[in-house]
Amino acid sequence: MATDWTPSSGVTHEMVCEAELPTEALFVCTDAMCGRRVVVGKVPPRLTVIDKGDFAVRHVGGTGGITMRDVAVR
Ligand SMILES: [Zn+2]
Repeated sequence: MATDWTPSSGVTHEMVCEAELPTEALFVCTDAMCGRRVVVGKVPPRLTVIDKGDFAVRHVGGTGGITMRDVAVR
C-alpha cells in the first residue's frame, strides 16, 4: 500500500476576489510568497494575468457567477 506519494505539481493556491466590477473581477493569490494577480473578464470571458506569481502552481478560486479552475493561461 505504498500509495502515499504527492507529486510536486499537486500544490494548489487559492485565489480570492479582491475587487469586482460589473464586467470584470480582480483575483489575488492568498499565498503571500506567490502574489499572483489576474483579472477575470465576464463578458466576454477572458483572463488577463497582471502578476504571474508562482505560475507552476495550480490556482483555483471563484466567486458568485464566475469560477476559475485549471487556468491554462500562463
Ligand atoms: Zn499562488
